[in-house]
Amino acid sequence: MKRIAIVGGGISGLAAAFALEKQRAQGAALEYAVFESNSRLGGVLVTEQVDGCLIEAGPDSFLTEKPWATDLCREIGLGDQLIGSNDPDRKTYILVKGKLVVIPDGLMFMVPTKILPVVLSPLFSMSTKLRMAQEWFHPPRKAERDESVAEMVERHYGTEMVDRLADPLLSGVYGGEASQLSVRAVLPRFAEMEAKHGSLGRAMLAAHKKMAQAAKGPAKPLFTSLRDGMQQLVDAVVSRLPASSLRADTTVQGLHRQGDSWVVSAGYASDQFDAVIVATPAQVAAQLVHASSAELASELAAIQYTSSITVNLGYDQQVRSSLPPGFGFLVPRSEGKRMLAATFVHNKFPHRAPLDRALLRCFIGGAGNDQVLQLSDEEILRTVREELRQIIGLTAEPLFTRIYRWEGAMAQYGVGHIERLQRIEDRLAQLSGLALAGNGYRGIGVPDCVRSGSEAAHRVVAVVGLAGQNFPPALELHEQLLP
Ligand SMILES: Cc1cc2nc3c(=O)[nH]c(=O)nc-3n(C[C@H](O)[C@H](O)[C@H](O)COP(=O)(O)OP(=O)(O)OC[C@H]3O[C@@H](n4cnc5c(N)ncnc54)[C@H](O)[C@@H]3O)c2cc1C
Repeated sequence: MKRIAIVGGGISGLAAAFALEKQRAQGAALEYAVFESNSRLGGVLVTEQVDGCLIEAGPDSFLTEKPWATDLCREIGLGDQLIGSNDPDRKTYILVKGKLVVIPDGLMFMVPTKILPVVLSPLFSMSTKLRMAQEWFHPPRKAERDESVAEMVERHYGTEMVDRLADPLLSGVYGGEASQLSVRAVLPRFAEMEAKHGSLGRAMLAAHKKMAQAAKGPAKPLFTSLRDGMQQLVDAVVSRLPASSLRADTTVQGLHRQGDSWVVSAGYASDQFDAVIVATPAQVAAQLVHASSAELASELAAIQYTSSITVNLGYDQQVRSSLPPGFGFLVPRSEGKRMLAATFVHNKFPHRAPLDRALLRCFIGGAGNDQVLQLSDEEILRTVREELRQIIGLTAEPLFTRIYRWEGAMAQYGVGHIERLQRIEDRLAQLSGLALAGNGYRGIGVPDCVRSGSEAAHRVVAVVGLAGQNFPPALELHEQLLP
């Protein structure tokens, strides 16, 4: 019987456990244990019901385009529970000089693909619009080195595009800054498009046409979620795993190699395993692997994380009818606010709030703002309510509020991340039976985490000799789209 440990019971670790469970059910002679520090499994996936509203403390949905979370939901019997975002009402605003300006139609991420709506939009100055026109004639350019998203976007469209779109969009997804995040890791398709076509606009339009021709059936929603919230995914996966394999309230303090085994130490107990999947944030993984490889630990420790806070506020029907239509707004750093973004949940996923309720979900924190975690709930609420007053004129008393703090939860793929991943792979190759999963490596969204967990499971199963040595193909990077 082969024994496999999974450290971390977030969605990455649970996806790994589910993949192992399937192998076990098919007769593989293995057992596994999921070690989780908290009393509950699921990591940042947490859903609460308050006053008839469904509140997501962490992620509220995932990109439909990335299939791995949807596939997992279907496999565990949640196919009929999948819901799409209310895209006919999709509209996102950017705060520009204190006013909300809608992102014009035809902007894909930050690349204009329709002329008229962008030309008519007050989101950009005349000089940025001219840059967009010139961009159409950019010649192909093969980058010799990685660079930040800000550098690339600035080269194509100028600094205003970085400030008004690239930065707020990346804050929404990563809590990160365009000037720090790697193009190759975060927007690999952009790097390829630039190398092949030069102009991102022309390349995006060509890709869009191809996709439209290939697309069959009705358009898919941009975001997918679950009827009862993201917690439903956690609960369904956990219900498929034997209770004896789940060790909640158990923090792993150390890992070390002993002969062909791995010794996992948690509290006063140590246990031997044939393989270990570390599915914690990379910073924790760094501490755990240090005894086995200081070089691997230092590469992992170099992957930075940011913190964020989600603030949910429930209001009555009167507020609901006074709010702008659409999914919500993003706040550029240059606006000098604490808030990074706000979602109008009752519009994005209408059944998450009864018709007589408005539900707002605001984000604060992000890169360089870890100090917000020190604020008291009262200070956080005061700040958010004051900024909502300034931005959308909302002064009403909320019916309820919920605040969730996520310390060091969002990985930042800095410039050089891809090269770092290669060095990590090289070090891992010397540590047989050790695999990594989680949002620190090849995708931060829930689907990528699901994929990282199941691929890690396949790797260790192969290494302990329970399956052919055929590793799944190397992971591709998939950029994140709009939040
Ligand atoms: C506020 C917020 C909003 C987000 N919104 C979206 C969204 O809308 N869509 C989307 O696709 N993605 C979103 N994300 C990103 C996505 O949710 C995460 O990247 C993903 O869920 C991370 O899963 P994970 O299992 O890798 O990590 P985590 O959920 O962080 O789980 C890691 C687990 O490891 C445990 N652990 C840590 N150290 C130890 C130890 N020593 N021993 C045992 N256990 C340990 C932790 O307690 C934790 O449970 C969001 C993230 C946040 C924080």
